[in-house]
Amino acid sequence: MSTETRAALGEAAIGELRGRTKAFMDEHIYPNEEALSAGDEAAAALMRDLQARAKAMGMWAPHLPAEAGGMGIGFMPYVYMNELLGRSPHAPRAFGAQAPDSGNAEILWQFGTPEQRRRWMEPLVAGEITSCFSMTEPEVSGADPTNLQTRAVRDGDEWVINGHKWFTSGALKAAFAIVMCVTEPEQPPHGRMSQIIVPVDTPGFDIIRPVPVMGDTEGHHCEIRYRDARVPLTNVLGEPGGGFRIAQKRLGPGRIHHCMRWLGQSQRAFELMCEYSLQREVFGGPLAEKQTVQNWIADSYVEIQAARLLTLRAAEKIDAGDEARVEISAIKFFGAKVLHDVIDRAIQTHGARGVSGDTPLESMYRAARSARIYDGPDETHRMVVSRRILRSFREGAGWDFATL
Ligand SMILES: Cc1cc2nc3c(=O)[nH]c(=O)nc-3n(C[C@H](O)[C@H](O)[C@H](O)COP(=O)(O)OP(=O)(O)OC[C@H]3O[C@@H](n4cnc5c(N)ncnc54)[C@H](O)[C@@H]3O)c2cc1C
Repeated sequence: MSTETRAALGEAAIGELRGRTKAFMDEHIYPNEEALSAGDEAAAALMRDLQARAKAMGMWAPHLPAEAGGMGIGFMPYVYMNELLGRSPHAPRAFGAQAPDSGNAEILWQFGTPEQRRRWMEPLVAGEITSCFSMTEPEVSGADPTNLQTRAVRDGDEWVINGHKWFTSGALKAAFAIVMCVTEPEQPPHGRMSQIIVPVDTPGFDIIRPVPVMGDTEGHHCEIRYRDARVPLTNVLGEPGGGFRIAQKRLGPGRIHHCMRWLGQSQRAFELMCEYSLQREVFGGPLAEKQTVQNWIADSYVEIQAARLLTLRAAEKIDAGDEARVEISAIKFFGAKVLHDVIDRAIQTHGARGVSGDTPLESMYRAARSARIYDGPDETHRMVVSRRILRSFREGAGWDFATL
C-alpha cells in the first residue's frame, strides 16, 4: 500500500492493534485450541468466556462501525487485524467476527430498517444469536446466481417462500436466515432477486440435513426446503429487486476478509514448515539443508507475500470507493491456491506427522480445499479478471497496473 494511505490510517495505530490482537491470540486462543475443538458444552462455555474477554478489552466486532456495536476501526485496519485472526479457526468467533454472521450484520447495518436492525442486527452483533445466508441451490449453478429458482410471492402483507437451498452454513444453530429469492421475475436478471429475512422457527423452514462436507466436523452446511414459508413483507432487506446489489456489497469485502484469514493460515503453516525443517534430521543433516525444502520455503515466502500485497491492494481500492472487481477476483483465486500449496508443502515437510492430528496442518488442509469453491469457484473469478481486462483493451484503454 502507498505510504500516504498508511500514514492516513495511522501506522502506529495499526501496529498497536496488531500487537493487542497477537497478545490475545498467544494468551487465549492458541492454548485453548484443542479444548475449543471438542465441540462439547465445555467448549461452548470456554468460547463464551473468550468472547466476554474480547468485549471487555474493546476488541469485539472489528468489522463494524462503532454505531453498529463494533470496534469502529475502518476497513483497512480490520484487514490487518483479520490476518492474525485467520491463524486459528476459533479466533473469528471469539472476536465476534465469524462468517456468515459478520456479513449478515454488515448488510443489516447498511440496508436494514430501524426495526430490522433492532430485532436482528443488535442481538447478532451482541453475540446473543447467530444467523445464516441462504443463496446456493442444488439444482442450478451457484457460480451463476441469475439462475436461482427459490421464489417469494406477495400474498396480502406477507411473502410466501418456496424453494430448495443447500450449503446454508450455520443454519442448525441460527436464529434467522437471509434468503436470496426471486421476487420480481419480470425484471432483467440482476433486478429479479430480493434478500428476505426468515426466522428459522417459521413454519415451512425445513432443514433436510447437514450436508457432510470435507473439513467440517460440526454439520455446519445445511440443505433446506422452504415450503410455503410465510414472513411479513417488511422482512425484505432494502428494496425488492435489490438482492444482487446487496449480495455484491456483501461478497466483495467478504472475499477480502477470507483472503486475509487465508494469509494468516498460510503464515502459520509456513512457520511450522520452517521450524520443523530446522529440527528434523534426515540423511545426515536437517531438512533445512535439502535444496527441495529450501525451494518450498522460498516459493512459499514469495507466494504469501504476493498474495498479501494483492489483498492489500484490493482492500486499498475498496477503501478508496472503488468496487475493485478485478482485484477482488484476482486475490480470491490466487489466495486460495497459495493457501492450499503452502499447507501442502508444510505437510510434506512433516512426513507422517503432517497428516496426523498432532499438528493443525491436516485440519487446515481439509478446510482449505473448499476455499477454491465458496464465494465463487476459481474459474469464475479468472473469467471476471480476464473479461474486465479484455473489455478495457477493446475500449482502447489497455490496462494500467499503476493506477489506484
Ligand atoms: C464450505 C462451503 C460453504 C458454503 N457456504 C455457503 C453459504 O453459507 N451460503 C450459500 O448460499 N452458499 C454457500 N456455499 C456455496 C458456494 O458459494 C457455491 O458452492 C459456489 O458459489 C459454487 O456454486 P456451485 O457449487 O453451484 O457450483 P457450480 O456453479 O455448479 O460450478 C461447478 C463448477 O463449474 C466450474 N465453473 C463455474 N463457472 C465456470 C466458468 N465460468 N468457466 C469454467 N468453469 C466454470 C467450476 O469449476 C465450478 O467448481 C458454500 C460452499 C462451500 C464449499
